[in-house]
Amino acid sequence: MKTPIPEYLVEVLDGTQDGGEVASYIPELARVNPDRLAAALCMSDGRLYTAGDADTRFTIQSISKPFVYALAVQELGLDEVLKRIGVEPSGETFNSASLDPHTQRPDNPMVNIGAIATHALVRPDATVAERVEHIRAGLSAFAGRELELDLNVCSSELETAFRNLSLAYLVRSVGGFEQDPRGIVEGYTHQCSLLVDARDLAVMAMTLANAGINPVAKERVVDEAVAQQVLSVMTTCGMYDATGDWMTQVGIPAKSGVGGGIIGALPGQVGAAVFSPRLDDVGNSVRGVQAFERFSKDMGMHLLKAPPLSRDVVRRAGVRESNHGPVHAIELQGPLRFSSTERVLRRLQDIPEDTHGVALDLTRVSSVDDVSRRMLMEGLRRLRLEGHPVYFVDPKSAIPDRDLGDGSYPTEAESLDELGLTGLA
Ligand code: GLU
Repeated sequence: MKTPIPEYLVEVLDGTQDGGEVASYIPELARVNPDRLAAALCMSDGRLYTAGDADTRFTIQSISKPFVYALAVQELGLDEVLKRIGVEPSGETFNSASLDPHTQRPDNPMVNIGAIATHALVRPDATVAERVEHIRAGLSAFAGRELELDLNVCSSELETAFRNLSLAYLVRSVGGFEQDPRGIVEGYTHQCSLLVDARDLAVMAMTLANAGINPVAKERVVDEAVAQQVLSVMTTCGMYDATGDWMTQVGIPAKSGVGGGIIGALPGQVGAAVFSPRLDDVGNSVRGVQAFERFSKDMGMHLLKAPPLSRDVVRRAGVRESNHGPVHAIELQGPLRFSSTERVLRRLQDIPEDTHGVALDLTRVSSVDDVSRRMLMEGLRRLRLEGHPVYFVDPKSAIPDRDLGDGSYPTEAESLDELGLTGLA
């Protein structure tokens, strides 16, 4: 059997209709082939699917912003970064000269003024060249490949970077950074000139969606909390002035760039990228937006789509006989997270007083998050305090640490049968 996913990607790309214009305010960008079209998906185990011109390289432009923000938050800590750059949607164009009137901070790191301030926070004492190299290496770790710079696009942008220079001077004037604004814009423009293809962008997006671990290299690039912070800001500020439309229609944390790329990062599921250089009025790739709209609808990718209900967590429950009296046995299944574990606690609460013991069978549980582990152990601890012996069947170690919180442990077995519990009443 050949997986249908590559054909699906081709079909999505073929179904998009071009429109808009290639960005021309950076002269060299106007020279790209506007008909290039590519898509890539990266899964959580690093498996890649591509279609179209997935090897065509283009400049990353604004898609560098979330990744440099990730480096800044990783290196300085979130509190320090928040002192300098906010996380509020600006409602203004990407290169607007605006600071929050109360805090004097740029609104967020996804607009140019915030991205320039973010650039300055990374290795603040380094030279321009050292900072650029540090960022190049950092973004290469996200991509799992050594990225290179397009120096033609970079110098072309620098020749006309008056707007970004004015933004850098504005941030500098309110103490947003201490360096020479000219060097910061020079470095920021280099950052925007890193060359990527759709495949690179899909891996970079999946690294964010994969809690900070590059799924191909299997190496951690940033902490889980950092990845979550970056995805949050992409959710509210990633698609220029169309972020509200995007979140309602597509619903995937995303970032686009004037080079024609768009990335989408759906936590735990997929990193996606589309490249097509013609842009709409707000600066998003016309075909890129259409392709993501299809992805979202066809593959149920909207972030706010309700996940499967938790009510199926109890696979079977009933009373079994033991030498000491009736034992209430509960077999669980699927992922344990807050809402499913709440169901389990309700079952434990309803166990009749005259039951001798309680046995939990986790053989079919696929994952247990931290809050669920704590909820479950607390429930068992309370049952034990009320005089019910507790038994635990967890052959796959879904919960490796079985301390009930008071130094005691449940009685363990490989199966309910091994506990000597016979017959469902
Ligand atoms: N280098 C571009 C700029 O600063 C990036 C803009 C973008 O992709 O939105 O103007």
